[in-house]
Amino acid sequence: MENFLISEAIGDIAGSAYEGRTHRVKDYNKVKMFSSRAHFTDDTVLTFACAEAFIDNLDMTMNLWKCANEHRHAGFGSKFKLWMASHYPKPYGSRGNGSAMRCSSAGWLAQTEEECIRMAHKTAAPTHNHPEGFKGAETTALTIFHLKKGKDKDFIREQILDKYYPDWSNMKYADFHDTYTFNSTCAGTVGPAIICFLESEDYVDCIKLAISLGGDADTLAAIAGPMAYAYYKKMPDTLVYQAMKKLPDWMVDISRRFDEKVSTHIPDIL
Ligand SMILES: [Mg+2]
Repeated sequence: MENFLISEAIGDIAGSAYEGRTHRVKDYNKVKMFSSRAHFTDDTVLTFACAEAFIDNLDMTMNLWKCANEHRHAGFGSKFKLWMASHYPKPYGSRGNGSAMRCSSAGWLAQTEEECIRMAHKTAAPTHNHPEGFKGAETTALTIFHLKKGKDKDFIREQILDKYYPDWSNMKYADFHDTYTFNSTCAGTVGPAIICFLESEDYVDCIKLAISLGGDADTLAAIAGPMAYAYYKKMPDTLVYQAMKKLPDWMVDISRRFDEKVSTHIPDIL
């Protein structure tokens, strides 16, 4: 496998054309993967920033801050923008879904469950030092980690979804599709993203299910995309190619070096 980080970028780019346009996207059949409006957003900037910090052993806070400021119009939320503007960025207790959308590198790199949790918390800590912020990152990264290691959908539903987000545990996609609206918290995003993955048939189906929930479409798809890739192990080549063309050179470089690192990573806690 390769293009691990691209599995997040495709979801983000595809969803970007629909973010906050719930009325336009409830219809699955009308979702286009890459419309002309599609572009990478804050989700991808920060996903690549976290990945770069891990593979180059950089300070997580400073690398998130630097990368965000280099892409300041990527769609960051208002509180995150204040953090970006600070010369001494301090965590502000966010429980938003920003911690879940940027943590996929932890799931891909980790070799053990303990390492995965520790790395996920590291990606969240610079801004999302709230129990719900940490939980969103931990849940998302662990789902990717376990699927990468070969666990099945029953395991994810019983050992991850039921445990971390019991409010969503018996839910089916059809139960909440019509009523789901914009929600920028981890608690309102991670559970639905996992359910999109659980009910999907392949990678593209998962992304389209996430986008057609409406609301924070790019983030839902950015969170669900890596889960689907970790499980199905494939994405259409054309989408990978199209996504790469929309990313700046530094992200393409990180993607390539991250792929190498995933195949050679040795856990430092053993
Ligand atoms: Mg976004």
